[in-house]
Amino acid sequence: MENQLAILGGKKTIEKENEELFKWPIITEEHEKAVLQVLREENISGLNITKEFETKYANSLGRKYALTSPNGTTSIKEAMYALGVGVGDEVIAPSSTYWATVLQAYNLGATPVFADIDPDTLCIDANDIEHRITENTKLIVVTHLSGMPVDMDAVMAIARKHNVKVLEDCSHAHGALYKGKEVGTFGDASAFSLMSVKSLAIGEGGIFFTDNQEVYERAILYGHYLRHDEIKLDELKKYAGMPCGAHKNRLSQLHAAIGLVQLKNYPGQMAEIDKAMNYFCDQLENTKGIRPIRPEKGSGSTKGGWYYPLFKYVPEELGGLSLTRFTRAINAEGSFTSPGLIAPMHKHPLLTKMDVYGHGKPTRIANYKGNNPEALLNQSLPVSESINPFAFEVPWFKKFWKDDIDLHIAAFKKVIENYESLLADDNKELDKRIGAYSSAFGSMDEY
Ligand SMILES: *Cc1c(COP(=O)(O)O)cnc(C)c1O
Repeated sequence: MENQLAILGGKKTIEKENEELFKWPIITEEHEKAVLQVLREENISGLNITKEFETKYANSLGRKYALTSPNGTTSIKEAMYALGVGVGDEVIAPSSTYWATVLQAYNLGATPVFADIDPDTLCIDANDIEHRITENTKLIVVTHLSGMPVDMDAVMAIARKHNVKVLEDCSHAHGALYKGKEVGTFGDASAFSLMSVKSLAIGEGGIFFTDNQEVYERAILYGHYLRHDEIKLDELKKYAGMPCGAHKNRLSQLHAAIGLVQLKNYPGQMAEIDKAMNYFCDQLENTKGIRPIRPEKGSGSTKGGWYYPLFKYVPEELGGLSLTRFTRAINAEGSFTSPGLIAPMHKHPLLTKMDVYGHGKPTRIANYKGNNPEALLNQSLPVSESINPFAFEVPWFKKFWKDDIDLHIAAFKKVIENYESLLADDNKELDKRIGAYSSAFGSMDEY
């Protein structure tokens, strides 16, 4: 039978994967030369190349100050400190995001408070923020998840009304636009991971941006003692000389050198990815059971480099077929998908139980000033908790190679056209395990 699905013994749609289609980051001789030069000049721990990288990135984004660190996790923590987060404060964040969007808050003595996500964009639901704001709320952190721009107009309006700061976690969204303006330019600060798998990849690294001199200088004071000559404000200057956060957060210049080349290459690469991914989505737009997640055409919003591309899954259009069975069938055809998205953080025992530092209570509420900490430990967020069987990761094409992409489209269509043959052996129970704690932040391929 020509249409027999590969998972049922039929012929695979994609016999041999074209690895070049997915290769990332794209490293060239120019990168090698840039790194070699740093090595030969014995300049790994210098600052000149790092500062050049920061200045060029800040200029391209249109922000005043940029500060790099060894990873995105650190940049987010620095930004939180710099924006004034401290003991007893509350930080509102989406529950369905990578942990490094917000977990750092408890290292600063603050309490992460989670908000639900929008079922269509999978980003923080702007309507679920305001009622969580208390007199202790200092910051709202949002993630442009999977490159989807958050509704920044709504978030900023709420924040301004309540005099709360906003930090954008742009680690999935380098170059993405919200209504024509680049993400990372809306919040009081914005932070990006630059690690190898992200859209703008320099190896390991992080960067944060702000237009506010005090915020920038506080971050320098916190973890960059060798840059204290940049501190100009009198009230901060008196503390210069030692890192007040007891951190040393300098980026290696090997990575900054890679970063300078990547900054130059990224716009062209991003344009190609955008073409490839939009083509893939266009071809599957009107297919039963699936919905590409991307900004509306003509809205001025885009997904930038399309890191971690996600689709919605609509099982009722496919006879109730489980997402695990569906994604396995596609993978058997030679394409690759992964069921679910990041499991919600508010249910994880680290955030409901664990006493990391010996406070005698869960670290998350160690310094919580609100009168009902139990309610916080038992937060209920219906969309985050139920979304996993209804979203999945799709291939992330780096090249607009139509013939190769067409094969992946064919694999999706073949499974969708023949879904009925998958219903007999479907074990819907497996869908309940998507996003279980054990695999909360890893791949769910094992299902
Ligand atoms: C990758 C990532 C981070 C952390 O970045 P690292 O460079 O790995 O420390 C933070 N937030 C989100 C949303 C991420 O995907």
